[in-house]
Amino acid sequence: MKILVINCGSSSLKYQLFDMTDESVLAKGLVERIGIEGSVLTHQPGDKAKVKITGAVDNHSTAIKMVVEALTHPEYGVIKSMQEIAAVGHRVVHGAEKFADSVRITPAVMQALEECAEMAPLHNPPNILGINACAQLMPGIAQVGVFDTAFHQTMPPKAYIYGLPYEVYEKYGIRRYGFHGTSHRFVSQRVAEVLGKDIKDLKIITCHLGNGSSIAAIDGGKCVDTSMGFTPLEGLVMGTRSGDLDPAILPYLMKKAGMSADEIDNYINKKSGVLGISGVSSDFRDIETAAQEGNERAQLALDIFSYKVLKDIGAYAAAMNGVDVIVFTAGLGENSKEMRAMICKNLSYLGAVLDAERNNVRGQVREISTEASTVKLFVIPTNEELVIARDTKEICDQGGCRI
Ligand code: AMP
Repeated sequence: MKILVINCGSSSLKYQLFDMTDESVLAKGLVERIGIEGSVLTHQPGDKAKVKITGAVDNHSTAIKMVVEALTHPEYGVIKSMQEIAAVGHRVVHGAEKFADSVRITPAVMQALEECAEMAPLHNPPNILGINACAQLMPGIAQVGVFDTAFHQTMPPKAYIYGLPYEVYEKYGIRRYGFHGTSHRFVSQRVAEVLGKDIKDLKIITCHLGNGSSIAAIDGGKCVDTSMGFTPLEGLVMGTRSGDLDPAILPYLMKKAGMSADEIDNYINKKSGVLGISGVSSDFRDIETAAQEGNERAQLALDIFSYKVLKDIGAYAAAMNGVDVIVFTAGLGENSKEMRAMICKNLSYLGAVLDAERNNVRGQVREISTEASTVKLFVIPTNEELVIARDTKEICDQGGCRI
């Protein structure tokens, strides 16, 4: 069974075509600058050389058309026709309380996605455009939605209700939802597999540290708390996002600096985080280099980032009354031994001790704690696309993909 996975952003589209007989990737690629001059599709067919295709890509529909052409191209294509594909799995960022699992897309699901779009105005609209374009261009092929929020739907009310009048939850759905759920689910299940343990017997803290970052507490395979909230802005300090703030800062800044609501929204989402603190970059590689060269604000950004991760690990160990495994994943978590070392420096009280030699690893599954460490530390590369493909296959296997 072949499954196409699509992840649509506002101006980009990522895709991977899986052969689910062995979960191998037949082709993958990226369309960049959708709706902007200089659009380009980079297509990687299996082990063969990358192909770059340029041309005007005015919208997501044109982008999907290019992807279909690339996948079925006589020279660098990997399938003869789209009829070989059983279904398309789409990443959808916000499913609110409507979706605790992945679903086959139907008109009723599309209606629900439109309703969720208000809560994720940057993310859900391009996801919806991608689904509509695929449905139009691939008639007869089922579309499946896999939600970033779904895995966190097991959180208890004490973890997701804010200290606001309860009616804002009832009236407007203002509560904590959490994001990166597909990644937290994948790495928690993978680490249980690697340890040869039933996930039901484990208390796991997963640290998804990338440009966007979040932490989750997973008790017995179920998420009981996570750091992102109503939107992906809450929680850790991130590349350009502020993370947790005293909410009183917002009206204060709006008055002091004469900012509108939209301006302050942009300020805390795009200009803050380690970019705003360091003044160097939102990319941790640039910040680590600057800090090594003696840039004090770059060092401060790294100190603040790692301190907040450390504090949240402590909070989640408390929430679960203990922790067995702490996992690091995503761009920074998988690749930066320096950041992992900074975070793990103060975890010995929990019984988690980093092994400096084992920690010298990038992007591979590896235990990085010492033999004596009672809490296991792990690097587990995430693979959200594979989860989307697996969920889509499962829905097809259950007969849910029949049109
Ligand atoms: P992601 O959002 O998961 O793609 O992660 C992207 C971020 O990971 C980048 O912005 C970098 O800051 C960080 N990153 C990737 N590779 C490294 C590395 N080798 N060392 C430090 N940070 C890295």
